[in-house]
Formats: sequence, structure tokens, C-alpha cells
Amino acid sequence: MAKPLLAGNWKMHGTAKTAAKLAADLANSSGDYPELIVFPPYVCIPAVVNELLAVRNIAIGAQNISHHSEGAYTGEISGKMLSDIGCSHVLVGHSERRTNCSESNELVAEKFAAAKRSGLVPILCVGETLEQRQQGRELQVIKSQLGAVIDLVGLETVCDAIVAYEPVWAVGTGETASPEQAQQVHSFIRAELGSGGTDTQILYGGSINADNAAALFAQPDLDGGLVGGASLEAEHFINIAQQIVEQK
Ligand code: PEP
Repeated sequence: MAKPLLAGNWKMHGTAKTAAKLAADLANSSGDYPELIVFPPYVCIPAVVNELLAVRNIAIGAQNISHHSEGAYTGEISGKMLSDIGCSHVLVGHSERRTNCSESNELVAEKFAAAKRSGLVPILCVGETLEQRQQGRELQVIKSQLGAVIDLVGLETVCDAIVAYEPVWAVGTGETASPEQAQQVHSFIRAELGSGGTDTQILYGGSINADNAAALFAQPDLDGGLVGGASLEAEHFINIAQQIVEQK
């Protein structure tokens, strides 16, 4: 059984000061919650590390990573730099980067490999656009997104990471996949991972909030969530985390 997990993607919001406040609010919140990871903007990571250092079950990740290890790559951030400042995880293949930064399946696979080289745990985001779903191609799209990474690093390495199913049409739109739609894709991903994927954490992401969380996490193959908007308030994030615990 995969361990329940909730990850919060803070995207390009806030400043070091507001990030530190959000981290402190999370650190001070009590109650039962699953494994938690937060993904602040790069420059806010040190402030968050400072607040969360002693909180063992809240990990810190970055929203992006260079596929290069080191060198003349102006503006890029390497995996080694991320580990050095206290990150343990990194998002790769987020749909906003696939779309806005033209990241191909192959580049995402290279970033996944770079994360592994630096000892980071990648969260591989996959998901179809609305048009691809309307054409009935969602499983085919996800197979090729996963396949590019499996071809480069091997199935076992992908099974050791985390996968997030994030339908592009649901990310930041207020639209959510129905529990049945999400479960169908999650069980497909689990089957693609084979017997090594039984314990792989497969997260759902796409406009999760306190009202829709329980029904989603009641599905057997949804091991947790990747939350954007609702991760910017500690109270909302913790509320969703508690609902995961109740359903698992
Ligand atoms: C995300 O950024 O990964 C995400 C799922 O965003 P939101 O929850 O805002 O849809």
C-alpha cells in the first residue's frame, strides 16, 4: 500500500516573508496529517527551510530543475544546488511548464534523471488536455508521458518516485476530475508501473479543495494530492490533509 501524501505547489506566489509565515503556520498546526511536502518558489526555499527544519514530516521541494548538472546555463538551477539548500523533492513535467516553457516528454525525462542523480525524489506530473480527453486519448497521452521517462531511467526508478495525475483542464481552473475519472486514470498508471508500482504514491492534482477532497481520496488508487491554489492558506491545506487521513 502506498503511504498517503499531500503536496502543495505554491507556484509564483508570495515573498520570502509570506512564505516563512505560511511555513510557520503549517509547522504550528496540530492534528493528524499524512506525509506533507511544500514546493515554494526557488528564492523562498531558504526561508521555508528555516521554519520547517525541525518539523520532520514536512519536506521541501522545488518546482523545477535543470536537466544539466553544472555549467554555463544562465538562469538555471541544478539538482545539486537544490539538495544543498535542503530540498528533498522536485516537480518535473508540471503542465504549466510543459505548456508555457514547451517542455517535451523527452526534456521532462532528462529532468527526472537529473533529479535522481542529485538524490532528489521527483514528482512526475502527467495529464491530458481537454482536447485530448474529448478525443478519448487521455490514456494514450499518459502512457507516452510515462513511457518517455521509463525509456530513459527504467521502470524500477519510476516506481521509486512519485507520480501525479494532473489533467491539464483541471489545473487552476476550478474544474475537477470526477472521482471515477481520476480513479480510472490512477489505476491505469498503477497497471503501467506493474508489480513494482504497488507502493508508488500516485497523487491527483487539479482544483482540489476542502469540498471535493473526501470523494476523490475515497478512491482506492488516489494515494494523496498535489494542490496548488488551496495550498496557499495553511488552514485549507491542513483541512485537505486531514481528509486524506480520514479516507485512507
Ligand atoms: C497544481 O499546480 O499542481 C495544481 C493542481 O493547481 P490547482 O490545485 O490550483 O489546480
